[in-house]
Amino acid sequence: MDSHPVIRMEHLNKVYQTGEVAVHAVREVSLKVEKGEFAAVMGASGSGKSTLMNLIGCLDRPTSGSYWLDGEEVGTLSKSRLSRVRNQRLGFVFQGFNLLSRTSALENVELPLLYSPHGHGGRELRRRSLAALERVGLADRAGHHPGQLSGGQQQRVAIARALVNEPALLLADEPTGNLDTRTSIEIMSIFQDLNRKGMTILMVTHEPDIARYCRREIVMRDG
Ligand code: ADP
Ligand code: MG
Repeated sequence: MDSHPVIRMEHLNKVYQTGEVAVHAVREVSLKVEKGEFAAVMGASGSGKSTLMNLIGCLDRPTSGSYWLDGEEVGTLSKSRLSRVRNQRLGFVFQGFNLLSRTSALENVELPLLYSPHGHGGRELRRRSLAALERVGLADRAGHHPGQLSGGQQQRVAIARALVNEPALLLADEPTGNLDTRTSIEIMSIFQDLNRKGMTILMVTHEPDIARYCRREIVMRDG
């Protein structure tokens, strides 16, 4: 049976060297996240949460240690293979939404498919992107530009964009950080719903009220 964890890391370290000073941002982290989990990474500001997320998201390489993403050892991959893994197996949601402002919601969601090596015909592209918008309840805003949407709606577009490639893992770094309480709860309900349907989710938050919506808490202290 194919039952590897989505994330497995052993003794992962990340040291930033800036001039004379070395900052040990992630220290000997060993972690397993199984398929179907919904976990919160908690911890004070500066404790290494974003650094850990960047390592998990293959946006940065560890100084030492091993990391398997969806069963594949990431440290041994070439740069181009790594960007393919990132595109196909991971979906990213950021605090600031990171949508293209002059582009419709639908086109924003299509973007990861354009970089997909399989290549999709225009029709298939549209169908999959609309389906992703439907999953976050925004099919009726497909033609709106980000400026015509509320913050919560923009974050839902960003979640749809993260889902469109059917990733093995959804990564979110403070996804409710720019949202009011009511909208944050709305976004957390969407994550809960996706998780109930099988999506594995790892999110960073420093707010205990938000972490409550997750099913597991991982606390970082000084790396
Ligand atoms: P958090 O997300 O928990 O607030 P970070 O992962 O952003 O923490 O930062 C952890 C530590 O690493 C901090 O001391 C921070 O100053 C340092 N750090 C983060 N990114 C860099 C970088 N690119 N260069 C040097 N130091 C960094
Ligand atoms: Mg951070």
